[in-house]
Amino acid sequence: MTANILFAARNDRWAEYEAPLRAALDAAGLDYVLATDLPPETVDYIVYAPNSRLRDFTPFTRLRAVLNLWAGVEEVTGNATLNAPLARMVDHGLTRGMVEWVTGHVLRHHLGLDAHIHGLNGEWRRAVPPLAEDRGVSILGLGALGRVCATTLASLGFDVAGWSRTAKDIDGIRTTHGPDGLAEALGRAEILVLLLPDTPATQNTLNAATLALMPQGAAVINPGRGTLIDDKALLAALDSGRIGHATLDVFRTEPLPPDHRYWSHPSVTVTPHIASETRPGTSSEVIAENVRRGESGEPFLHLVDRRNGY
Ligand code: NDP
Repeated sequence: MTANILFAARNDRWAEYEAPLRAALDAAGLDYVLATDLPPETVDYIVYAPNSRLRDFTPFTRLRAVLNLWAGVEEVTGNATLNAPLARMVDHGLTRGMVEWVTGHVLRHHLGLDAHIHGLNGEWRRAVPPLAEDRGVSILGLGALGRVCATTLASLGFDVAGWSRTAKDIDGIRTTHGPDGLAEALGRAEILVLLLPDTPATQNTLNAATLALMPQGAAVINPGRGTLIDDKALLAALDSGRIGHATLDVFRTEPLPPDHRYWSHPSVTVTPHIASETRPGTSSEVIAENVRRGESGEPFLHLVDRRNGY
């Protein structure tokens, strides 16, 4: 049977994805049609980016799966017109990119690199950082991305704790879960990394009460989603010095509006949602594998549990 695959993403993405997708689908031995425009009633799979124009899945009457190009699915999970299985992106390139971004920003805060990059201005001011093993780093979210970030930081010697919804057992990581577990993870977090998805349960995970649990002067690093943070509470904690620095990659409104206080705050680093990108080469292999699975009646990889929203 021929698998009809619709590519529904921003127009400029097609040029990046067409060749790697065809190569991966060919390598998987699939008989397929891949196009950016197909009669909806003929479509079996949609390779989907939530910022495409496609919002109404109703006309896709024989849809077998939506294969999301992004790790985050908050813009799709609530779509009542989608009844087919939804797979999210877990991809080698996405994971490695996140590990590199998180490791770089953790090391920046751990080593106090800013003082030397901005210059000591002739003052022989020696602030020797502790060893990584004496630095508490906590990661909220131990999924595809958080878990590898946690083990990578632990392999550099950091004292790493991780928090998730369900209990985990990960070598070398202190794991906690549930509300009490959150307090424990925050209480030791000199550096905190947020890698939770945006769901109703994770909104404002960092708020005035939870920020107050963190050590004085701690750093917050958010490559997860903007909704994880109560912005007003974070700005107040930064103003008072309670939180020493925030490195933020994601925001409630993106692009971050030019007049937002985050841009000008001396204790905030803004990066423009570049912590990690889905890479066409490696992600095409994940898409092709899921189409192959669909065609041979095997379970899809990386299915979203829409009740939990991730
Ligand atoms: P996963 O779904 O694999 O992992 C999510 C983790 O969060 C899991 O450990 C899960 O717990 C935990 N979690 C979910 N809900 C709760 C809750 N209510 N309380 C405690 N823990 C919870 O996601 P990924 O690791 O692949 O990605 C994480 C997020 O990173 C994405 O959703 C996306 O928003 C963001 N992202 C950002 C990018 C960027 O460039 N800035 C790029 C890619 C992703 P459990 O394990 O128990 O299920």
